Amino acid sequence: AAKRSERGIWEMFEPGMDAALHERHALARDLRHAVARGELRLFLQPLVDVASEGTTGYEALLRWQHPERGLVPPDRFIPIAEETGLIVGIGEWVIRTAFAEAAQWPGGETISINLSPVQFGSANLLPTIVHALADSGIEPGRVEFEITEGVLLHNSEANIALLNRLHDLGVKIALDDFGTGYASLNYLLTFPFDKIKIDRRFVSDLITREESRAIVGAVIALANQLGMCTLAEGVEEREQLVQLRRDGCRMVQGWLFGKAQPFEHYHPRIQGIVAPTATTRISRRRYD
Ligand code: C2E
Ligand code: MG
Ligand code: MG
Ligand code: MG
Repeated sequence: AAKRSERGIWEMFEPGMDAALHERHALARDLRHAVARGELRLFLQPLVDVASEGTTGYEALLRWQHPERGLVPPDRFIPIAEETGLIVGIGEWVIRTAFAEAAQWPGGETISINLSPVQFGSANLLPTIVHALADSGIEPGRVEFEITEGVLLHNSEANIALLNRLHDLGVKIALDDFGTGYASLNYLLTFPFDKIKIDRRFVSDLITREESRAIVGAVIALANQLGMCTLAEGVEEREQLVQLRRDGCRMVQGWLFGKAQPFEHYHPRIQGIVAPTATTRISRRRYD
């Protein structure tokens, strides 16, 4: 039998309980202390301008340095954080940490931060962002929030109002994982997104599959007509970049230019010796 604990998490007492469920429960328990114990890490991945092939910004991607399990990827703990509501506190940490770091970058690159639909249910989201902007001193125009269709699916009127408040602060809003949901085209009309991120699944078979090429080409053309920037996710091969450039895609992100890496990789600190610059490292990786 299962009983709901005072914390609102399902505690299971079945002896033959499913191993995956047990693991989720263990992760949920540990995740509760992850922020306080300093176990969360923000990685960065470059966002690259197609025309110049230069890095204009970075996406912050969360990792959990678990004391026994090692580096846990977000796909394994974000869903748990969402179910337990822990994403609200974790998300605040992400916003504050990312702003504080990016505010120091001498090149003034942009910082993109993923927001969960669950965070939109919290009255804290807007004040957290307002305070984090003020405390870090980062220029709002350098900040972009990435949301998924999930934000527009539930409680959409209140969420769209909140997106408008964010726009009023001067930050940018991107629609992430475009093409993976149900009524994608409809969502383009619900809010004036600054950017559309085309999901990796369309990019991965862009060269080999006629249908993907048709979809990607049409999405880029549509976004351009609506005055929205386009970014293709998961670009791993130069051939894909060439095709995307031909289609008029403005930005790309992917292993061709750099994987998600710890902050120091792209923004080395000076620690007694002169560290190699970020650009040297990126261009070396590009031809690995
Ligand atoms: P996303 O926002 O769509 O992020 C892009 C994902 O694609 C990242 O996975 C990135 O490492 C991966 N990726 C980028 N380029 C390539 C490539 O060329 N090839 C391949 N195979 N993969 C590539 P990651 O870091 O595992 O993050 C997964 C998802 O977790 C993110 O998808 C996002 O939805 C979520 N996430 C990450 N950080 C946060 C966060 O701080 N808050 C919230 N709410 N969600 C986050
Ligand atoms: Mg994203
Ligand atoms: Mg994405
Ligand atoms: Mg994704």
